[in-house]
Amino acid sequence: MFAPNRPVVTRIAPSPTGSMHIGTARTALFNWLYARHRGGTYLLRIEDTDRERSTQGAVQVILDGLAWLGLEPDGPPVFQFARAEQHREAVRVLLSKGRAYRCYMTVQEVAAERERARAEGRVLASPWRDREAPSRTNAPFVVRFKSPLSGETVVDDLVKGPVSFRNKDLDDLVLLRSDGAPTYNLAVVVDDHDMAVSHVIRGDDHLNNAARQILIYQALEYELPAFAHLPMIHGPDGAKLSKRHGAQAVGEFAELGYLPEAMRNYLARLGWGHGDDELFSDAQAIAWFDVADVVRAPARLDWNKIAHVNNHYIRLADDRRLAALTLEALKRAGGDLPPDAEARLMATIPLVKEGAKTILELGELCRFSLNSRPLVLDDKALALLDDDTRARLSRLALVLGAQSDWTPPALSAGLRAFAETEGVGLGKFGAALRAVLSGGAPAPDLAGALGALGRDESLGRLQDALSRLR
Ligand code: GLU
Repeated sequence: MFAPNRPVVTRIAPSPTGSMHIGTARTALFNWLYARHRGGTYLLRIEDTDRERSTQGAVQVILDGLAWLGLEPDGPPVFQFARAEQHREAVRVLLSKGRAYRCYMTVQEVAAERERARAEGRVLASPWRDREAPSRTNAPFVVRFKSPLSGETVVDDLVKGPVSFRNKDLDDLVLLRSDGAPTYNLAVVVDDHDMAVSHVIRGDDHLNNAARQILIYQALEYELPAFAHLPMIHGPDGAKLSKRHGAQAVGEFAELGYLPEAMRNYLARLGWGHGDDELFSDAQAIAWFDVADVVRAPARLDWNKIAHVNNHYIRLADDRRLAALTLEALKRAGGDLPPDAEARLMATIPLVKEGAKTILELGELCRFSLNSRPLVLDDKALALLDDDTRARLSRLALVLGAQSDWTPPALSAGLRAFAETEGVGLGKFGAALRAVLSGGAPAPDLAGALGALGRDESLGRLQDALSRLR
């Protein structure tokens, strides 16, 4: 039985495959939230038993992904492969208790028995279950678990409710391969026990494994953890998440310019929620989260919602941090940047960040301020610069030269006053001024653009355009 008062320990147990799936990120988040909510501990186990895939690089992707998400574990990672000796020790215990046996079936025998079992609608049965080991043999063997032949095993799942499995449907799974390598279901049980994991919170693709694992727990007389199997994340169309739905890996979301706090907020709502609250802080999520409130139905990724949540956090974010992130994104994208790019971003970001759904978009919105003089003016911009407009912009340059307060509100007042003196509406020269200041790139309103560019750069861009030969 699960002891309700034991200290809460959760864990995320990813296999290093080279990328970190968004589903793994959500599982990590729920484990983290639940541990924080209960004042418990949140651990990381790297399930690196697949030696071909588990490269140092693949492990690093997980460590980096968790660090980026702000979900670093409360202790050093446990590496599953390094614990093979503990796994083998558990097998020795099971053998000595008569709960496991050596099975000498050959590969061909297993294949033939599997065929028969399928035809007879039962699970594989090994003749070695109740037979003594052959004496003085060097024949290779695997160690199988002696699964009960009758009764049922109930996974009392915190999300799914009680789910029962008939024991006769669970075959005698292999615990140790013939090369002595422990198998997944054994390793998970031994590791979770040794790590004192109280709550196994993971994707519901592992629900079937839970029944097998419970049997191993019982045979080893380990205290059972509580299980919570989380619903899958589907694409916006309700189909299983796949490449065609867009980004799936945490690294891709980072590169597209989503902020980690936005990801935490958005992912928390995939399968869980607090009423209709769409935007909430980590502290609120921690206070509210209970794994028992996770829903059973698959969650759907919704790109509009991610964008909305990300925009919210971009607006809240510190401009210096945004400038650093934007600079990094622009550098990654290649292209020339002025030496004072960061300062220019710092001046521009406060004026445009409200409209940005990602850091990449923020970069686009800042682009006008980063271009070096003289700007390249396209035909559309040049067409706006007729003689009248040039004359007017020359007068404006003089007025702006004398403008003492270079803040957007003061500039806005200055532009209005100038239009009044000229006896025209702002529309008469606004488009041309905008083109001259931005070179056709998206830009905030005129006063904002002037404010972001600063006096020297603004007047310089105006002069460049006015001195151009037609
Ligand atoms: N390593 C498994 C996976 O990546 C998780 C196992 C578990 O959480 O028990 O799917």
